Amino acid sequence: MDWEAVIGLEIHAQLATRSKLFSGASTAYGAPPNTQACAVDLGLPGVLPVLNRGAVLMAIKFAAAIDAELGRRSVFARKNYFYPDLPKGYQISQFELPIVGRGQVVITLEDGSSRIVGVTRAHLEEDAGKSLHDQFPDSTGIDLNRAGTPLLEIVSEPDMRSAREAVAYARKIHSLVQYLGICDGNMQEGSFRCDANVSVRPQGESELGTRTELKNINSFRFLERAINHEVERQIEILEDGGRIVQETRLYDADRDETRSMRSKEEANDYRYFPDPDLLPVRIDDERIERMRATLPELPEQKRRRYIEELGLSDYNAELLSASRDIADYFEAALAEAEDLSVQLANWILGDVTGALNKSDLGFADCPVRPTQLAGLLQRIADETISGKIAKTVFEAMWNGEGDADAIIEARGLKQITDSGAIEALIDEVIAANPAQVEQFRAGKEKVLGFFVGQVMKQTQGKANPGQVNQLLREKLKG
Ligand code: ADP
Ligand code: MG
Repeated sequence: MDWEAVIGLEIHAQLATRSKLFSGASTAYGAPPNTQACAVDLGLPGVLPVLNRGAVLMAIKFAAAIDAELGRRSVFARKNYFYPDLPKGYQISQFELPIVGRGQVVITLEDGSSRIVGVTRAHLEEDAGKSLHDQFPDSTGIDLNRAGTPLLEIVSEPDMRSAREAVAYARKIHSLVQYLGICDGNMQEGSFRCDANVSVRPQGESELGTRTELKNINSFRFLERAINHEVERQIEILEDGGRIVQETRLYDADRDETRSMRSKEEANDYRYFPDPDLLPVRIDDERIERMRATLPELPEQKRRRYIEELGLSDYNAELLSASRDIADYFEAALAEAEDLSVQLANWILGDVTGALNKSDLGFADCPVRPTQLAGLLQRIADETISGKIAKTVFEAMWNGEGDADAIIEARGLKQITDSGAIEALIDEVIAANPAQVEQFRAGKEKVLGFFVGQVMKQTQGKANPGQVNQLLREKLKG
């Protein structure tokens, strides 16, 4: 039997506000434990939460970016459960009336095809504190610095059909929140977290199968692996005649496996009810319009513009618009070399990306600045240097030797285009290799490569390859 995987994601994006969702304490990451938890975050008796306007505005931005219905009236609710890192005994979240309603995003897969994934809702909630299990030999520490940090929980429809699609969707949301400037997207620090809901069903079946929820996934690579594992596990159970138990499973990256954390039977009844300490949030049209006007160009719009106006391939356009860092780099370079969009795209996605990966750097920290790259490509375009020599110049720029022109000058890399000089060299090479000349004249065209190689060697790669080819052909034909 053929099986189909069904996946829905719940993404928690920490909003990039300076203070918490309901208190004035700082949200900065990495402070010593419990130095950024005030009376409100500690849940001391008598305190009252005050809603952070910035977090609301960020949620409105997100709604506008995914074309979502905005909850004109949204309500905060208490989600009650007991856990040591939740001092109040409840989390303030949203339940029946979330701030962001139904929306959608377009994902693009590696083969260039696109799909629409529905977003069911996104709601504001406060983060919990952290339990530290590795600090003391026989007790657990509690750090409440994170308690009260604003989260936007983004819930998708069960619209994805493979781990790849789920990753493409997660990446899209990841890039979107960073474009919008509402989340720093740092997965290591937990600013962007994904839970995956996974079920399988026979191909062609329209009812959903029983799902499990995978938690604790902190990279896109693990997300893909965890989902693939879970799909296989479920198929195996069903093929053996068993049934899937609805449960939460934890992904263990070290062992590359998931294991059961709690089953539906043990699941909490959260006893949601509207928080009496907080008023409903009302948002008027004017506010929404003002927010819409502040939206930057989004990845999808960029992608389309790169294809339609700059003539890039679908795939390159997708890669260059995928993160704000790479798009900013590309556009800064393009501003200096307007007619070289295709060449810039190829260099940025090829040599530049390669060098950055090797040094574990991002585009924002690239030692070769966009204007320098543009300068280099201009020298290829005007035939001052060949594409091959350009790689040497790029390396020198990377090592801080200055701009392309300075390096070309200092190292004497200027291409030889004086046809007299090249012709003289070609004559020498032809005279020195009579056997190969015979072969060429007998119809063995491949020998041309040998001659080109010889001329390039003599000029240390500085001869213009097109010119060398053309002159060689003429002379060899005799
Ligand atoms: P809960 O209230 O338990 O969080 P929801 O109905 O809100 O459950 O769904 C949570 C997530 O699980 C959503 O992203 C949804 O798309 C996904 N989901 C629901 N049912 C299934 C299923 N059968 N298979 C895969 N994903 C599912
Ligand atoms: Mg949920």
